[in-house]
Amino acid sequence: MSTTSPADPLIDLRAGTTLVAGQQPTWPDEAALADVVATLLTYPPLVFAGECDVLRSRIAAAARGEAFVLMGGDCAETFANATADNIRDRIKTVLQMAAVLTYGASVPVVKVGRMAGQFAKPRSSGTETREGVTLPAYRGDMVNDFEFTPEARTPDPTRLLRAYHTSSATLNLVRAFTSGGFADLRHVHDWNRGFVANSANARYEKLARDIDKAMKFMAACGADFETMKTVEFFAAHEALLLDYERPLTRVDSRTGDLYDTSAHLVWVGERTRDGDGAHVDFVSKVRNPIGAKVSDKASPDDVLRLVERINPDNEEGRLTFITRMGAGRVREALPPIVAKVHASGAHVTWVCDPMHGNTFESESGFKTRDFEDIVDEVRGFFEVHRELGTVPGGIHVELTGNDVTECIGGAEKILDADLTKRYESVCDPRLNHQQSLELAFLVAEMLAD
Ligand code: PEP
Ligand code: MN
Repeated sequence: MSTTSPADPLIDLRAGTTLVAGQQPTWPDEAALADVVATLLTYPPLVFAGECDVLRSRIAAAARGEAFVLMGGDCAETFANATADNIRDRIKTVLQMAAVLTYGASVPVVKVGRMAGQFAKPRSSGTETREGVTLPAYRGDMVNDFEFTPEARTPDPTRLLRAYHTSSATLNLVRAFTSGGFADLRHVHDWNRGFVANSANARYEKLARDIDKAMKFMAACGADFETMKTVEFFAAHEALLLDYERPLTRVDSRTGDLYDTSAHLVWVGERTRDGDGAHVDFVSKVRNPIGAKVSDKASPDDVLRLVERINPDNEEGRLTFITRMGAGRVREALPPIVAKVHASGAHVTWVCDPMHGNTFESESGFKTRDFEDIVDEVRGFFEVHRELGTVPGGIHVELTGNDVTECIGGAEKILDADLTKRYESVCDPRLNHQQSLELAFLVAEMLAD
């Protein structure tokens, strides 16, 4: 339990490099990697320490039920898809969802994009075999290319630099869109009217009408909508590739503390959350708000160990558990974990990821998720927290603003046979724009219950 910073926090950070780090690529050329790392060390921060502190305080409010966290974005961003239209439409989707959730929860929604850095992926196998040919697995655009050729799949460290620049351009656009009038609540509300005007979504008309009335009520009371044209929007990704995260970790000149300046929040994934591993060591040494994915494979003691390692000072907003149990397991697997952490007195924020425990291969061979399962896991998450008297603090979803067909179900009734029409994800299946909004309406109903 030490709160004092070591004399040189960067030396302390480097000490972690001796620990085992899972899910790292085998770079073909160590000298080329060293050059890239040296370059990354000279680059400016992508986010600022003060912004990370603001997010930490917002997440602390969510732990108390005074805010609700909405995290959303691609499973894996790609360089090619970091276009203005794609980024705008993803932001738009998150803003639309947030407006609906704000009404349902009657508290501010903390908007966090899974974007501007989500370029590295953990894989269940280090290789992939197609028609007798075995190549390195695709590990995200930060490492190699999705195309199935030996050249494309060979890890290339200069991709770390491209990831930095793409993240920088993405964040620049995020900041412009969320501060330049695009996020005006009146526009967002109009977009949502468009969603319910579609007859497939008639079921949500009542809630949309109630929001409409609330907007009119606010206007009649003299609410200043001009001040609601800008919103806070944070960036988050999995801190997977330590050769990217470590060089972007900097000493905050205000406090001498370390911050990972690649994102406001970083999380450790299900496959790298070993309490003694390099990833947990890394996140324990930076002051950013931290997330940790937790599946039904985790024991309550594993989770308590993460509390000890990542949040020894029991600070509110520091640690968020992003639970991803699966719809069929959440009602059994989540309660013992939440109960034990709660009984320990640890301050943590509970967020539901209803995506990663619900992935399956469809009959036609696509990796997919069923909208019904996604909704059911969120419902189970709320039930468990209500039962235990703990606070359901938010949701974490994989989504896109485009009309893709990757997850089945929803009001548009996407079928297995439709998956082939527009399946674009290079990793996990995402909710499309309509499915994302539908989920927001359903979660808003759960929150209002
Ligand atoms: C992800 O968020 O894309 C992911 C790989 O999740 P998890 O670590 O929970 O499996
Ligand atoms: Mn994923």
